[in-house]
This record gives sequence, structure tokens and C-alpha cells, in this order.
Amino acid sequence: MDFLETSDPAEVRRRVAAQLRVVARADHCISRQYISPNALRVLYRLRDAGFSAGLVGGAVRDLLLGNRPKDFDVATNATPEQVKALFRNCRLIGRRFRLAHVHYGDEIIEVSTFRGISDDGSGDREMVDGRLTRDNVYGSIEEDAVRRDFTVNALYYAIEDFSVRDYVGGFEDVQRRVLRLIGDVERRFREDPVRTLRAVRFAAKLGFSVAEDVAAGIREYGPLLVDAPPARLFDEMLKLFLAGHALAGFREMERYGLFAVLFPESSLAIHKDPRGRALIEAALASTDARIALGKPVTPAFLFASLLWPAVEYRTAALAARGHADPEGEASAQIVSEQAQRIALPKRFSLPMQEIWDLQPRFVTNQRKRVQRLLAHPRFRAAFDFLLLRASAHADLVELAARWERAQRDGPDAVLEGLPPPEHGSAAEVAPRKKRRRRRKPAVASAAAE
Ligand code: ATP
Ligand code: MG
Repeated sequence: MDFLETSDPAEVRRRVAAQLRVVARADHCISRQYISPNALRVLYRLRDAGFSAGLVGGAVRDLLLGNRPKDFDVATNATPEQVKALFRNCRLIGRRFRLAHVHYGDEIIEVSTFRGISDDGSGDREMVDGRLTRDNVYGSIEEDAVRRDFTVNALYYAIEDFSVRDYVGGFEDVQRRVLRLIGDVERRFREDPVRTLRAVRFAAKLGFSVAEDVAAGIREYGPLLVDAPPARLFDEMLKLFLAGHALAGFREMERYGLFAVLFPESSLAIHKDPRGRALIEAALASTDARIALGKPVTPAFLFASLLWPAVEYRTAALAARGHADPEGEASAQIVSEQAQRIALPKRFSLPMQEIWDLQPRFVTNQRKRVQRLLAHPRFRAAFDFLLLRASAHADLVELAARWERAQRDGPDAVLEGLPPPEHGSAAEVAPRKKRRRRRKPAVASAAAE
């Protein structure tokens, strides 16, 4: 059932409209009391101005599942300019994908105009090598439905009669809890490989099964993610890992080979040494637990964990080749290599690298260094990271316990029972000087954040 094998919009409209299933108010569980009052305001105003409007996407899906949507998206036949004319508190955003944002305090209701499926030659739609890079061609609700990614994401809750409109079989797929792509798997994944990652995210978040052809498609076209824009991948990573289902998300990524595509070196490392996987899983489980408790989580710590197995692996390789500063060099190399896949903004990559670079400094028998590390502005994050490492690495438990005590009882707790330092030995002084020079700018700019 590939509606888009013809590019004649009238034909698509006809075929898709023939599939329409209207689920009347009495036959579904979506009640207005679960819809954000601001989203309702937007819907009513559009309706009263003579436009057709409905909730769409994740909100409808989540409401049908009895979950609370994290945001409410509206779709309408009004153009962004027409929407703007109706709302004072409205801003138009996006070039690649033009949208209206209606602001109510902290809440933003995203209003998108039905997208069409034809290329009218105006440059409002751009394809590069079969990939959709820009889409501002407007169309009918039928066309809008079939250009969405998964059937469960293409349901509309219509404000005119409170029905759910289903053009692609999504209502039944929600009931059966299965993720199916709309249209031909190969074409849809080639058009936008990020959809492979979205599939994994929805499978993790919703606990849905993945249709067989989609599962095969993720494995086959997932490698195309290497050409996806790194900034977009960073956004997707945050949606995957900071929405309360990070551990499930990681396991799904692994299952479909996407972790190897986006984190190649870490993937290699965790397959060689299971302690790397244990560390990542512990980090993600604690991220999920923090989110469940409403505690803050930082992308710096998250990425520090995801990439640490790579850093350790590279450190070992460099040390074996006799590199003078294997830890520092490994961390610098991994940061720059990873940037080619996922664009980690500097405000996260600098503290991430600092967390790494502080790790070797936990191993010391000098009181002065213990004091200096305890006073370091990034000590807390670095220590939390040491605890995380210890959770996957029995050899570090004792070290972590010493530093735990040191925070309570003072620096001597770290030194207890250790042989005293040999003052002035070359091995002890030289690396310290070198490390301090390299670290300075990172500390300064991270502190300036
Ligand atoms: P979440 O609950 O995580 O926000 P969502 O389904 O709302 O899930 P969004 O990324 O907010 O996901 O996107 C909103 C809707 O836009 C989707 O439900 C889908 O219909 C459509 N959409 C988003 N990204 C794509 C894409 N890459 N290709 C096709 N349709 C997409
Ligand atoms: Mg959404």
C-alpha cells in the first residue's frame, strides 16, 4: 500500500480519502479534559475562523494510549501566515519546515499547515539524493497524513466533531501496539534516515513492537545515518536519552545496529569489554531514575558515559604505542571523531572532556593533589563519574570509597594506608605540568557558561 507511488496529488487524495476511518467520539477515549487548554484555545479559534484543525501526531497517539502527551501539536489547512494573523502571541519559525508557534507562557502550541506530496517546482520542496531536505509545499489533510512517518503518528483528533480520523490504519496499530511505516519502507527510510532512529525511540518509549519489514529496514538503512546532519542527530539523541527511556532506547539501538553507526568506537569497545556496556547501562538507568524523580540531567554527563568506553579503549591503544599522554590524547581524539557524527555543542563537550580528564587525577598519593581536586569546580561531576565507573569496575570500588570519605573527613582519607610519595621523581612531576597547561582554557570557558 504505497500511496505515494503516484505523484498526482488528486489521485493520492482520492485513494487516501477512500481509506478514511472516522472513529466517533463515543468509540475512543480522548476527552477534552486531558487536552491542554491552550491547545483547545488554538483549535477553537482556527475552527471559528473557518479553518479545519485538529490535534495530530504524538499527542493523539499518547492520549489513545492513556498517557499524558508531553506537547500538543496542531495541524490545519490555514497557512502559517493565516495562523499568524489569528494569534498575537504567534511566531513563525523554521526554514526547512515552516511552522507557527503559538506561545502561552512556557507552553508552545506548534501549528503546522497540512503538507502536500507533490513538488510544484517552486523550490518549496527539496530532495538531495532521495533525501527530503526542505518541505514547504502545502496540501490536503490526506496528503499530510501519508507523508508522516508511522501510522500511529498520523492520527487526527478533529475539533469539529471530536472524532479521530485515521487514513492509514493507525488507530488499529495503536490498539495492537505495533509500529508500522506509512508506505514503502525503503523509500521512506532513504528519504529521511533519521526515521530509523525515531522508530527505535518510539519502540523504546511506547514499548511497541516493530513491524517485521520496518525492523529489517532499520538494520538495512540505519547506516545511512552517517550522512544525516549532525545537529539533527544531537537533537534526536537528547529525545532518545533524556525522555525517561534511555536504557530501553540504548538496547533498541544496539539491537538494530544503530549504536555501532552513531558511536562506532564505543560500540567496538563494549563488544570487547563487557564492563563498558555495564557502565553505559548503569548511567542510562540512573538517568531514567533521575528523570522519573524530576531531577535534572545533563547531556555532558550522558555523553561522557556513552563515549567513555571509547576513551578507555583508545587510551589503551595509545599507551601500548608508548604515547606520552595517552589519556589526554584519547579524549581529544574521541571528541573530534564523534563530532563528525553527532554535533555536541561546546557547552556540553567541554565539561564532558573535563569529566574525563579529571579521572586519572583520582589516582594519587599526594595530599596537595587531593586538595586541589576536591576544590576543582568540576569535582562533583567527576566524582559522580568515578562512582559510575566503580559500579562497572570492581577494582575502582575502594578508590571511590576513599574519595567519598575524603569529602566528609578531609583529604587524608584518600591517602590512608598508601605509601608516601617519592618527592621530586621525574615521573611524578612532568605529566602534571603538561596536563595543567592543556586543561586551563577548558575550565575557563566552561565556568563562563
Ligand atoms: P513525541 O511524543 O516524542 O514528541 P511525536 O510523534 O510527537 O513524539 P515529534 O518529533 O514531535 O514526534 O513529531 C510530531 C509529528 O510529526 C510526528 O508524530 C509525525 O507525524 C511527524 N514527523 C516528525 N518527524 C517526522 C519525520 N522525520 N518524517 C515524517 N514525519 C515526521
Ligand atoms: Mg511531539
